[in-house]
Amino acid sequence: MRTVTTRAELEQSLAQLPRPVALVPTMGALHAGHVALIAAARRAAATVVVSVFVNPRQFANAADVARYPRTLASDQQLAEAAGADLLFTPDADQIYPPNEPVAMIEPGPLATRLEGASRPGHFTGVATVVSRLFDLVRPNEAYFGAKDAQQVRVIEWMAAQRSDQISIHRVTTVRDGDGLALSSRNQMLSASGRVAAAKTIPVALSLIAEAYASGVTSVAMLRTLAERVITAEPSVTLDYLDFAESATLVPLSESAQIGDAAPGEVLVSLAAVVDGVRLIDAITLP
Ligand code: AMP
Repeated sequence: MRTVTTRAELEQSLAQLPRPVALVPTMGALHAGHVALIAAARRAAATVVVSVFVNPRQFANAADVARYPRTLASDQQLAEAAGADLLFTPDADQIYPPNEPVAMIEPGPLATRLEGASRPGHFTGVATVVSRLFDLVRPNEAYFGAKDAQQVRVIEWMAAQRSDQISIHRVTTVRDGDGLALSSRNQMLSASGRVAAAKTIPVALSLIAEAYASGVTSVAMLRTLAERVITAEPSVTLDYLDFAESATLVPLSESAQIGDAAPGEVLVSLAAVVDGVRLIDAITLP
């Protein structure tokens, strides 16, 4: 695996690698969740490119960008072991050259609720950086995690606006033994926060999945079941527990019966704050 940092080096390396090319965009601090994306890309494509770029345009402030963990040596090891051919670790100047205008991508209604409501501008930053990476890497396909459900919908929308027909793949969320979805943010939890998060967030979503599988379709009833688990743990603050049509992210009404109200899949997404750390997770109901 080669590591390249400039556009010119990227261009040179890509010219020597076979197509089809799969891209796995990340912000680094790679863990087994990222590894699952790289492994899925490896199974599908002749060349796997992993990008590591902490995108300043998707953070609310510079301090958060500075605080983001940077673990390049371990990222290189994990990416290579998972089968990557090329690791692209650009500086901001390579992605947003100072003399070039940046066409900001505004995802519109998909980006206004949920994470978009608490992080204004976040999905504009995400859609813009991934679009820049698509321009530079010119992949045939790209891989994203289902945990960040709204993000992957925004990316699917963005890709559909482009003429290059890059196919977008969702990879099932990788969880730790206690059920908590892997996230670089988990490192910021205290030991007791970690236990509280694992006892609530994945458990609430599993309860919904199980109740739905056994025939409970009322949004209000499913919500009550899940919220009971979360409110029982005072150190966990629920930001939202949301039921929406997967394709449009339009919310279901509380009185809706899943199946009657929404023709397709329903996305159940959740955000909660533990130890000041905002964690998100999601499942879909068929
Ligand atoms: P990040 O580096 O956090 O921006 O994440 C890069 C990619 O990895 C995104 O597509 C995420 O959705 C995905 N990802 C993060 N955590 C997980 C996980 N636990 N399971 C699967 N994919 C994940």
